[in-house]
Parts: sequence; structure tokens; C-alpha cells
Amino acid sequence: MKIICIGRNYAKHIEELENERPEHPVVFLKPDSAILPRKNPFFIPPFSDDIHYEVEVLVKINKVGKHISEKFAPKYYDEIGLGIDFTARDVQEKCKEKGLPWEKAKAFDGSAVVGEFYPKEQFDLENLKFQLTKNNVLVQDGNTNEMLWKMDALISYVSQYFTLKKGDIIFTGTPAGVGRVVENDVLVGIIEDKEAFNIRVK
Ligand code: MG
Repeated sequence: MKIICIGRNYAKHIEELENERPEHPVVFLKPDSAILPRKNPFFIPPFSDDIHYEVEVLVKINKVGKHISEKFAPKYYDEIGLGIDFTARDVQEKCKEKGLPWEKAKAFDGSAVVGEFYPKEQFDLENLKFQLTKNNVLVQDGNTNEMLWKMDALISYVSQYFTLKKGDIIFTGTPAGVGRVVENDVLVGIIEDKEAFNIRVK
């Protein structure tokens, strides 16, 4: 399986990192080795002093598809989840300065937290609340109604480039409020009223 991630999909997050608003979705990949095994803590990797959390809504693909039109995109997913796109911001800044790929900053082991998935019927996908708390303090408070590109548009867009397969996961971008983690932080992801993950940082 593969993980397809969307960057810069929320206007306020684009502003907080002083990025340009993109003309098309920003897309990058994480390998399956990036998934943090269930129940494991997240270990801060030795190559970074500035690991950021980014809470994101996840879409799990349920069958093979390519060149999917936006209209038919809903047929390609039944489940929605919540996760974290951990980012070595210091490494990413260096890559960005030099125009180099981001993988070292975005696709390292443990960088993809994949929480619980829920049937999509449980939610109003156009108006889905999700939050991240760090040590019981609310740090990110998002709603899918703030997305620049909605889930169906993202599925359509990425499937023009990559064949989607059953089990692939799309990380749909993070809202504002990203920040650094340090040892012993506890990150809890909440989608509507459900706790989707609970991660300790080591
Ligand atoms: Mg992200």
C-alpha cells in the first residue's frame, strides 16, 4: 500500500508557514514503512530538532482506480480516519530552500500515525470537526469545510497520476496550529466526539 499526502490544503496553515497558495494540490508520498505501528510511541528521530505534528483527516481507498472523476470518487472509499503527518520541519526547510524533494523530512519511519477508521456514513464529510490535543491542551481545531480541495476532488486529482489501490491512504492536509513535539508529550486525535488515536512521544 502507499500513502498519498496533500500539502497546503487549508488557507490558515498556508499563512502560518508563509507558503504560497498553490494552484493545484501539493502532493507527496510516504512509504508503508512510515506507518507508526499501533500502540507504539513515536520516537523523535536523531536527525531532527524540530519535529512537528500535523493532524489530518484520512481517506482509505477501497478498490483499484485511476482517472477517477470527482463525481464517482465517493465509490472509492467507505471509511474515514484521523492521523498525524509528522514532519521534520528543520529538514524540510533545508529541502525547500534548495528545491529538493521532501522525503527525508516527511517519509521517515514512524512519520505516519494512522488512527481508527470509521464508516463514512457516520459523518457529514463536508462539515467534519477534528481536533488534536497536546498534553490535554487543544492545539489544532479543524473542519473539513475549510479545505481548499475536498476529499472527492483530491481523489480525482491524485488518481490522474497514481493508480489507487485497495488499502491506500490519503492524508488530506493539516489545518493551522502545527507545532513542535518534545519527549513525553501526549497527542490525542479526536474526530467529532471519537478518540481516533493517542500517541506518546519518546
Ligand atoms: Mg501534512
